[in-house]
Amino acid sequence: MIPYGHQSIDKEDIDAVVDALGSDCLTQGERVTRFEKDLADYCGAKYAVVVSNGTAALHSAFVAVGIGSGDEFITTSLTFVATSNVGVWQGARPVFVDIDPTTGNMDISKIEEKITDKTKAIVPIDYTGRPVDLEKIKEIADRYNLKVIEDASQALGASFNGRKVGSISDLSTFSFHPVKNITTGEGGAILTDNEEYYKKMKRFITHGIIKENLDKNLGAWYFDMVELGLNYRLPDFACALGIRQLSKLNLFLQKRKKIVEKYDEAFLDFDNIITPVKDDEIYKSAWHLYTIRLKENLVSKKVAIFDKLRAEGIGVQVHHIPVHMHTFYKNLGYTSDGLEQTEKWYNSVISLPLYPDLTEDEQKKVIEKVKAIVV
Ligand SMILES: *Cc1c(COP(=O)(O)O)cnc(C)c1O
Repeated sequence: MIPYGHQSIDKEDIDAVVDALGSDCLTQGERVTRFEKDLADYCGAKYAVVVSNGTAALHSAFVAVGIGSGDEFITTSLTFVATSNVGVWQGARPVFVDIDPTTGNMDISKIEEKITDKTKAIVPIDYTGRPVDLEKIKEIADRYNLKVIEDASQALGASFNGRKVGSISDLSTFSFHPVKNITTGEGGAILTDNEEYYKKMKRFITHGIIKENLDKNLGAWYFDMVELGLNYRLPDFACALGIRQLSKLNLFLQKRKKIVEKYDEAFLDFDNIITPVKDDEIYKSAWHLYTIRLKENLVSKKVAIFDKLRAEGIGVQVHHIPVHMHTFYKNLGYTSDGLEQTEKWYNSVISLPLYPDLTEDEQKKVIEKVKAIVV
């Protein structure tokens, strides 16, 4: 099976991890600090905090903003469940806005009507790696005194209007799961320019404990837990992999983009599908996913088409099952109301294989099979 996504690990990556395993400090060593610095530098943000996964990154960002019981946040339903789950975990209520039917990203024109006096944050995602209009979102957020937590799990390396994703929103979160643009096995990060958020998240991911500025008379062993936290730390040897992976990100992005261009070209005259919106001067996607949408008359055949592609060895996937359609959210009372475009997208979308090491022959096979089966 040609998978829809796959990590690229080379010998030097493996050597770096093995090296780290031989060092004294397996958890919070120098590689953690280095990886954080590299990430902040790459994206052009002041601070980065690396954590155990993308979900922990989102959770830490929600905690930094102080989203809690009784609060609301505005987000999209066309995402992985983690985006809204962390807010629910904090006791807050996600309010879903519909998507823009050309990009799959949040429909910005529908945000304002959802804002109430309980709204604390806008939580967009950069669907498939394409940035949402971050400037317009920021403008709305500023006007209503809201914070922007950008779930950029899929968008490491993307840029919006000349600025790298990770340097624009109040907080931007990333995932280093193996299918994402770089990997540390499990892993994630939050980027911010806000020192207060940075310090708060650093405490939160290590139990809310502080070790500095304590009364020396208490003894050298003493530490204090000042806030409720968790252990969301990313180990040193995972950061060793992260440092290597990040140094290859631009190369990965180039390879992804080349594959995307080939798909675009191959499907140019294939009328049964809609290909994803292309990059332009403003929007430069990180191309985490290549999603095709079936034309209206084929939507009813989606399950059969999907199964046939899988049977032919094409590891297609669907991104995403809208959050509000999951049992947990249905039980909370969420319905399709106002999410027509999200559901329409879901009913027609299929992700094709896209990752840096996808070979020309493999891609040729994917294209052939799509053209033969999507009819
Ligand atoms: C991958 C992903 C996550 C979760 O990341 P993990 O590292 O698997 O916890 C959250 N949101 C989006 C949009 C993602 O794509």
